[in-house]
This record gives sequence, C-alpha cells and structure tokens, in this order.
Amino acid sequence: MKKTSSDSLPSKQKYKPMPENSLLISPIYAYSDNYIWCISNDKQQAWVVDPGHAGVVETHLKNNNLSLEGILITHHHWDHITGISELTKHRDIPVYGPDSEKIQEITHPLYEGNTLSVFNRKISVIEVPGHTKDHIAYLLSDENAPNALFCGDTLFSAGCGRLFDGTIHQLYASLNTLSTLNNDTKVYCTHEYTLANLEFAQAADPNNDAIKQEMIRVNALDLNTTPSIPTTIEKEKAINPFLRCDQLSVQQTVTRAKQLTADNITEEEYFIALRQWKDTF
Ligand SMILES: [Zn+2]
Repeated sequence: MKKTSSDSLPSKQKYKPMPENSLLISPIYAYSDNYIWCISNDKQQAWVVDPGHAGVVETHLKNNNLSLEGILITHHHWDHITGISELTKHRDIPVYGPDSEKIQEITHPLYEGNTLSVFNRKISVIEVPGHTKDHIAYLLSDENAPNALFCGDTLFSAGCGRLFDGTIHQLYASLNTLSTLNNDTKVYCTHEYTLANLEFAQAADPNNDAIKQEMIRVNALDLNTTPSIPTTIEKEKAINPFLRCDQLSVQQTVTRAKQLTADNITEEEYFIALRQWKDTF
C-alpha cells in the first residue's frame, strides 16, 4: 500500500447515518502504512488513537463533520505522536497515554488497570511493554458489540512488533496477556503489515490452512481502500506464529530454521528464536 500523507479517507468509507448509541471505528491512512484509528459516535464526536500526522486527521474530521474530543496514545514512536501538538494547539482536549518522558503532550498518564470512559464505554489500560518499554494498549468494552483492542505496535495481524527499548521477555509476556482476551475481541493495530507477516507465518507454520485462507482473503483486498484490519484474537490464535509457540508444527520449523539443539526448549525460547528469525527473514 502506498498512500501519501495528504490522502483523505477513501470515498467508499464515508460515514453513513449511525444507529443511536453505536460507535464507529474508522481508519485514517497516514504515511506509507500507518492507521490512525478514529472512534466516533452518533453525535459527530471523535477520539483518535496514535495521531502520528495532524493533517490527515484534520482532513478526516472536516470531511466527516466531526469534532475531536480526545486523544489516546499507545507509545512514544514518532509515527504515533507527531500530530498531537498541532491537534491540541487550538483545542482543550485530554491526551491519554503512557507515563513517558518522551511524550511531553500527555495530560493524563496511565498505568496498568486504569480505566477511562469514552462515549460512555469503559476503556481499560493494559501495559504491554516489549516493542517499547512504555507501550500500553486500550481495551474498549461495549455492551452492544465485541470489545475493541487498540494495541499499537505490539500485536499485528500474523505478527508482532520488533524490539526497540523493551525486552523480548516483556514482549512474550505482553502477547500472552493479549491472547487471553475474549476470542471475538476486534484488534486494531497501527500498521498494514499483514501480507508480509503472512509470508513469514507461512514459512514458520507451513501446513496451517488458516494462514493459507487468510493469505487468499488479504490478497483479494484493495489495501488502498480496504484495510486487512481489524483482526480478532481468535483469528490471531489460528494464524499468528508468535501466539502459537505451543504448537509442535511451529516448534519444529523454528528448530530447523535456527538450528536449535538444546533439550527441553521452553515455549518462550521458541518465541525468542522465532522473533530472531523474523528479524532476518
Ligand atoms: Zn512503534
């Protein structure tokens, strides 16, 4: 997918009238493969998650007649935070995010187990360090719809984030935590990496039919107008090798690829070898 930062929302995803009390979660395309997720209600109010670019957010708000009410941040990387200062310059709105010295604009620092309310829905904070040490995820609970997880760069469809300033042990624990969420939880990650991840998943788990099916589905999409995201926890448990290190098929492939020879290799050690393999794939 190649989009420029000035592109607006594809016309086929223009807002339609919404049922009362429902929420809409829409992608705003930014940079070459980022998604800034916009959560809006039937009163034309919106929150955005990880606004790495102010211009595309302003265009989306204007095109859809939305007012920005708040910002959620998952971690400090530039492509997730660069738009905050411009978006808040003329708006008095809260900016929630991790307690990180690298994000000056945070007005409400958050920690594991904190909750906040957005459009009368509860959002729970889950600390998911690994990709960065300050990474948090937001779980939005909705009585009328499956829960929605905004997990930044921690869990991707068929993959996971690379290590920056967190540790591999943290990343393993964080992904294990996310894998225990309800199966129907919709997962809104922040990059369109699915096809490349599926290619690695196929190498790591070659006889997995669910991966083959997902490859066919995503290949048929026009990713310029239709993201492969959201995924679900259930689907990720079926296709994502980083959530499948308990499976013999994955363990055998990793053992061959990384020439592991030790006895009694733990699931975490398979995970570490898998992450190293992906880094050079
Ligand atoms: Zn990142």
